[in-house]
Amino acid sequence: MPWYRCHGLMVHMKIAGKAPAPCVARTTPDNPLVPSQRCFAISTALCDWPLSDGKTCDAPLCPEHATEVGKDRHYCPRHTAEHRASAPELW
Ligand SMILES: [Zn+2]
Ligand SMILES: [Zn+2]
Repeated sequence: MPWYRCHGLMVHMKIAGKAPAPCVARTTPDNPLVPSQRCFAISTALCDWPLSDGKTCDAPLCPEHATEVGKDRHYCPRHTAEHRASAPELW
């Protein structure tokens, strides 16, 4: 049974069938002095960023952290930043 963050609290949820993975987006900036925290909200999308080995990033993302980049295509915060950096004219 997975744990999720809900309204700022960690809750143990009973979900029938296959439970969605918790969101893995970091809720704190990439700062070595701040321990990274995961969002842990229920994910509704996976990161579709293509990796060099033909797979996709597949990071589970909640609606708050998934950036929609097309129909049924979402990027995690890290790859949204990479996407913006590689194609700034699209933004
Ligand atoms: Zn999230
Ligand atoms: Zn990603």
